[in-house]
Amino acid sequence: MSRAYISDMQVSVPFDNSYARLPDAFYTRLAPTPVRAPQLIAYNDDLAALLGLPDAGAEDRARVFSGSRVPEGAAPLAQLYAGHQFGNYNPQLGDGRAILLGEVVGTDGVRRDIQLKGSGPTPYSRMGDGRAWLGPVLREYVISEAMHALGVPTTRALAATLTGENVVRESLLPGAVLTRVAASHLRVGTFQIFASRGQTEALKELTQYAIERHWPDAERPMDLLRAVCAAQAELVANWMSFGFIHGVMNTDNCTISGETIDYGPCAFIDDFHEDTVFSSIDQHGRYAFSNQPRIIVWNMAQFATALLQQLDDPADSVDEATEIVHAMPDQIEAAWTRRFGAKIGLSDPSAADDAALARDLLQIMQAQGADFTNTFDALARGDARDQFVDRDAFDTWSERWNARIADEADPQAVMQAASPRVIPRNHRIEEMISAAVNGDYAPFERLQNALRDPFGTADTGLMRPPTAAQRVPATFCGT
Ligand code: AMP
Ligand code: MG
Repeated sequence: MSRAYISDMQVSVPFDNSYARLPDAFYTRLAPTPVRAPQLIAYNDDLAALLGLPDAGAEDRARVFSGSRVPEGAAPLAQLYAGHQFGNYNPQLGDGRAILLGEVVGTDGVRRDIQLKGSGPTPYSRMGDGRAWLGPVLREYVISEAMHALGVPTTRALAATLTGENVVRESLLPGAVLTRVAASHLRVGTFQIFASRGQTEALKELTQYAIERHWPDAERPMDLLRAVCAAQAELVANWMSFGFIHGVMNTDNCTISGETIDYGPCAFIDDFHEDTVFSSIDQHGRYAFSNQPRIIVWNMAQFATALLQQLDDPADSVDEATEIVHAMPDQIEAAWTRRFGAKIGLSDPSAADDAALARDLLQIMQAQGADFTNTFDALARGDARDQFVDRDAFDTWSERWNARIADEADPQAVMQAASPRVIPRNHRIEEMISAAVNGDYAPFERLQNALRDPFGTADTGLMRPPTAAQRVPATFCGT
């Protein structure tokens, strides 16, 4: 491991850039584009400590995390990948507005990427400007950190900086850079690009790299497939148990590590409906709430297809790949049952009857437009009845439920551990962005503070669902 130093920070940062040691075919080396007036607006001290980053002043941090100064030991590069976007294969995407600075091994022994997002154009920018504006940067900062606090595997946010430059969107908006931390940025699309180009050696090397970095118990490509499928099955059930809709589950936004990545038009459900879609570009509901289990299986089928290309005799492994992908719906259902079972107080829910009990409650919630988060929170605190207009429907369900939880030791504790009080509601995110654009970061701070402890927060004001006027029905990619 080469030790390197961020020049005017006092403590050494041990960058160890394994991805940059892969062949040139995987990336383009280039530095982020410096910005006019870097200004630090958020810094995640807890995460910085986990990564073992040195103390530094706000100015140094602003320069490094806006891309205006490349720290010593970094090996900045833009990664190459492809991907299926809304089901259509795009043969080349890549980091069009992101730069991987390098990797560090944290105090927990875990290797992580440090990436700047919004850091200027790259050879993969296509029609884009390589920049981001403040809105999506704060959105990803708050939601990714909230997901982490909820216990969902996710990329994290280390820093947000203003660039002092405007970006052109529908109007002129303040430019910003997000510093993102991830177990890696390997995606299904990273495999797809080499598979579709017939670059078998690169595909083999990537497979070996992914195994060593994320799934060291795997020995063969099909073992890697099995591990990623299991992680993604668990992830989608995890999302759903919090009413989370990713919104753009393209194969380039689907990680090999099993972390959630790319918080674009994502949102949490307020009043429950299984067909909920927020993303303005998801016109056919491909990525609707209840479609997520089907889409993740589709994505993993693409991953399987890509992995198979490296085998001398793929026919031998097609049956195995098929078996692995076909096992996913049952894996997702099992994970869903465990998580939604916990949300109704069951420590060891059975597949058929208990899943039906949870689904029946969701159906009553949907019929009455009950708020997802607040209903489960109220259930955990014994006053769910008030969440329903038609209490008879709930009472009938409640009789069955009470009979079922009678022999649970502590159903309240099980429910409270599975259902948060506060989530980053869409209208609060929009309110935070509007305020920040006007220089007021108080709503950003408030959300961040409350969401550090989503299961126990005292900021009950953030529990309120949106009024009709506050409702934000659509979210935008916001690139
Ligand atoms: P995303 O929707 O964030 O997953 O991005 C999909 C693709 O579009 C990736 O290849 C991005 O790098 C690229 N992209 C998104 N926004 C921009 C932008 N402002 N400039 C250049 N490329 C972009
Ligand atoms: Mg993406």
